[in-house]
Amino acid sequence: MNTPLSKHPETLALHAGWRSDPVTGSTAPPIYQTTSYQFDDTNHAADLFALRKIGNIYTRLTNPTLDILEKRLAVLEGGTAGIVTASGQAASAYAIQNLAVAGDNIVSSTNLYGGTYNLFAHVLKNQGIEVRFVDPADPESFAKATDDRTRAYYAETLPNPKLTVFPIQEVADIGRRFGIPLIVDNTAAPLICRPFDHGAAVVVYSATKYLGGHGTSMGGAIIEGGNFDWGSYPQRQPLLNNPDPSYHGTIWSKAVESLDPIAYALRIRAILLRDLGAVMSPFNAFMILQGIETLPLRMERHCQNAEKIVHFLKTHPSVKRVIYPTLQQGYDLTRAKKYLKGGFGGLVGFELNNGKKAGEKFINSLELLYHVANIGDSRSLAIHPASTTHSQLTPEEQLSTGVNEGYVRLSIGLEHIDDIINDLSQALAKAN
Ligand code: PLP
Repeated sequence: MNTPLSKHPETLALHAGWRSDPVTGSTAPPIYQTTSYQFDDTNHAADLFALRKIGNIYTRLTNPTLDILEKRLAVLEGGTAGIVTASGQAASAYAIQNLAVAGDNIVSSTNLYGGTYNLFAHVLKNQGIEVRFVDPADPESFAKATDDRTRAYYAETLPNPKLTVFPIQEVADIGRRFGIPLIVDNTAAPLICRPFDHGAAVVVYSATKYLGGHGTSMGGAIIEGGNFDWGSYPQRQPLLNNPDPSYHGTIWSKAVESLDPIAYALRIRAILLRDLGAVMSPFNAFMILQGIETLPLRMERHCQNAEKIVHFLKTHPSVKRVIYPTLQQGYDLTRAKKYLKGGFGGLVGFELNNGKKAGEKFINSLELLYHVANIGDSRSLAIHPASTTHSQLTPEEQLSTGVNEGYVRLSIGLEHIDDIINDLSQALAKAN
């Protein structure tokens, strides 16, 4: 990894992992749109395949453009290694499949993105991996659901629609008692939350959201914290400690002892990317790198605009309730203040007085905000979950996820605050 030039995210976002091309001098990261790499000779090829030398073999495994993004993400997050994937979904799946096989289980927070919930409750279940869902309000519920075959804990930092911040340190500490790593999906809170500082072992992102930031490119990332000693838990973490028959009997926790702790990331690359193949395209890696250059600036403005929108909505007569981390109470508010620094995110929820009809009317009246299922775009976005993302759920199920018929989710973008407020004002006037 390149020596960081600074500790400041503003500088790292522009410089970590890449300086300039040694041949052409190009300062922008080149897009290496290639599938394969010429070997020097058969010895060189054999060394690369046996991991005796590090180098490029095939883009499903490594690619120089992806490598820049992986290094930049690892440095920005304060981790030791990054892996990028074709989407956030692939990142979540690999993060689990790298530790658990049929007969194993993981314990996950109930507060999850719907796609992750489906992956856990159905796809992983069909693969024989049980996901035990517990309420994160009580961190001890993770300990209670743990048994000998529990391989990981999983949660989102700032899950929507509830926007209650996850107790990262509390659950990471419980996991460390058992040799169980906490994997945190930090998609909604890049830079404003640093899960490794609180003991998380792995961070996952949908790079499709704030990292890319412009709604152009799908991508995912998995970052290893380097703060979890996989080799100390041979019973608990067999995939990283038993000889791997699909890779010359390699024991991943011992594969590169001289380097930073990267056993977890190394196995994802060598096994899951090799055999399941959800690789990011070099072009998307370029686009996401471009996005990350302005991530510190953008996050700051997303948070500032969101706080102003919260203030506006709180005093609006058509609005029954506003949902934002700073408006939570009790331990939810304590956790928001403990884990989010420099802002509380760009996601805002609110509930309209007149239920579903008002929610639909509001969305259909928006002129500036886009009506889309995405979050984390530089443009402001809105959705009415009861008629879209949560429409298959019963009203009771909707309530358990924090949604009711009048709930609207906003992802506040970077437009001038007056323009966002004007659009919300006119749509609210029509909704009631
Ligand atoms: N995690 C979170 C918190 C998300 O919001 C999403 C997508 O909305 C994902 C993961 C999945 O990411 P992707 O859409 O890039 O596959």
